[in-house]
Amino acid sequence: NLATTPSTTTASEALFERARAVTPGGVNSPVRAFTAVGGTPRFITSASGAWLTDADGNDYVDLICSWGPMLLGHAHPDVQAAVAGAVARGTSYGTPTEPEVELAEEIVARTPVELVRFVSSGTEATMSAIRLARGATGRDIVVKFAGCYHGHVDPLLAQAGSGVATLAVPGTSGVPVSSTADTLVLPYNDREAVLAAFESDGPRIACLITEAVPGNMGVVPPAPGFNAFLAETCRAHGALFISDEVMTGFRATAQGGWGLDGAIEGWTPDLMTFGKVMGGGFPAAAFGGRADLMAHLAPEGSVYQAGTLSGNPVATTAGLATLRLATPEVYEHLDATAHTIRTAVSETLEAASVPHTVQTAGTMFSVFFREESVRDFAEASQQDTAAYAAFFHSMLDHGVYLPPSAYEAWFVSAAHDDRAISTIIDALPAAALAAATA
Ligand code: PMP
Repeated sequence: NLATTPSTTTASEALFERARAVTPGGVNSPVRAFTAVGGTPRFITSASGAWLTDADGNDYVDLICSWGPMLLGHAHPDVQAAVAGAVARGTSYGTPTEPEVELAEEIVARTPVELVRFVSSGTEATMSAIRLARGATGRDIVVKFAGCYHGHVDPLLAQAGSGVATLAVPGTSGVPVSSTADTLVLPYNDREAVLAAFESDGPRIACLITEAVPGNMGVVPPAPGFNAFLAETCRAHGALFISDEVMTGFRATAQGGWGLDGAIEGWTPDLMTFGKVMGGGFPAAAFGGRADLMAHLAPEGSVYQAGTLSGNPVATTAGLATLRLATPEVYEHLDATAHTIRTAVSETLEAASVPHTVQTAGTMFSVFFREESVRDFAEASQQDTAAYAAFFHSMLDHGVYLPPSAYEAWFVSAAHDDRAISTIIDALPAAALAAATA
């Protein structure tokens, strides 16, 4: 599988041109468009294990893994068989089904949530969790951290405004100021900022939402005890602590990001959100938490929430098959694989004198093109994105598909074997050189 340099991309280029004629920017989710790194996104026609194949017949080791879901690798035969069986029984009924119950049982068994409700995307999960938190507390304010992404939920597409550090303004056009008026945006890992916000607005704060381990500004682990501190601060003020595990859930560890701190330290979030891995590559996500809080949801309670395809039998079957196959051995393999790749990247960049920092949380990691470690979004923003773009394209030309942005986690799967790893390692020296001369 020695990729040629440069590979032919004429078929992807032709598809991208057709795509742009009928779809804004040619893509259905912005980061896919290569805006941050330039060039033509590869149109993928098939995938198997750790490998993607594009429309020109090029093969790539996949370090995106669909942005997290493909924990077992692509086209896992047992997941494929379970999905084929589900499809043969019909694809959606709009009635309750057994796979939903089984997947909910699996999630309840692995995490501290007592009840779980399924939705179709991580965005819906966080949107619904926030509505539930506001309904259950009778309060309006939502606290979030700069650099944490929770989907394209209007009140969460906020950024810290100037002046008063915490006063949020919309982070995109199309979101009215009124939608972010009750959102406070704080710097991550900053206890003082959290305490100040709760001191001034505590009685009006419905919830604080955070990624269990931020992965959407690159991987920025919480300082030791930070999540416990957030849980305790919320509790002291009658606010709810929402841990967003859409990316980390069943990925960072078998118990998600919570497995790295809460499970050891003995605290639990009030509400949690999940997505990605639990859908096994299909549109499925969830939010869950304490039974008394979840009881506020319709049909039992007064907080309305619903979905035509929620708990879809094909998606829940794929998720269930994935979680059942995600044994402790799988997480050990993911840990070892991530460790090998991290070490090789670090050594090669070091040898080429490219400033970099590798940050890790369980099986998740990312590479920042700057010397110092990164604690928050302001620091994540101070990296050499031109060096990353050069590194990215060299890796792509040598058969490795990295996330097309310096602000993303790198994802491995249980199918990343010696052949995949040696392809990555062989590609690194040229990419490090490209980064050094960018
Ligand atoms: N929360 C987190 C932590 C995420 O990483 C994402 C997606 N990257 C979302 C929410 C939104 O999920 P979705 O894209 O399925 O709407």
